[in-house]
Amino acid sequence: MSNKESSKTAWFWPYYSIKTLDTTWQKGTGRRRKEAFDELYTCKVDPKKCKFNRKASKLHSSTSRLSDHLELKHQISKDRKVKNSSSPMALTTWIDNGAVNKVLDFETSLVD
Ligand SMILES: [Zn+2]
Repeated sequence: MSNKESSKTAWFWPYYSIKTLDTTWQKGTGRRRKEAFDELYTCKVDPKKCKFNRKASKLHSSTSRLSDHLELKHQISKDRKVKNSSSPMALTTWIDNGAVNKVLDFETSLVD
């Protein structure tokens, strides 16, 4: 797996699969315009029910459409609170459920 796009560190990227397409588009605006391979972002939160996807060329630089989709359709938001517990992305509930404290207890018990 190669991941050249190290800039994709926003919170919502783990919920999307990224496929590089054969087609190109003009990325950026004005003098910063450059040709880039188009990418297809597909929501992978619930592949059986959700077919949401967006091309990079459609989003331009506005990735808020991707985060909006997670919030509106899957109740997944930036602060990682998942209201829908049937979500396969259970790790998002982890921190909220006091799991951090449990981990700390566990590490303490290892020291003993
Ligand atoms: Zn979705």
